[in-house]
Amino acid sequence: MYYVTVDIDLCEACGDCVATCPNDAFVMSETDGKEHAEFVGDDDCIGCESCVAVCPTGALTLVEM
Ligand code: SF4
Ligand code: SF4
Repeated sequence: MYYVTVDIDLCEACGDCVATCPNDAFVMSETDGKEHAEFVGDDDCIGCESCVAVCPTGALTLVEM
């Protein structure tokens, strides 16, 4: 199984990971007034790393459990 961590400080809320993930593993969320991506795809992530590749700020890290 895989999951993806989001570094909220690095995320610029461009939405590219949401648009790119083939399994809808991200949603846009907000914490303390800052918009950011949130990983919600614990059962859906296939570890393809498309999100990591597309993120312009390096905010995403793929982790294999
Ligand atoms: S690794 Fe692939 S399946 Fe997993 S969240 Fe990223 S784009 Fe989606
Ligand atoms: S692609 Fe990167 S910068 Fe854009 S919303 Fe996703 S995590 Fe944030």
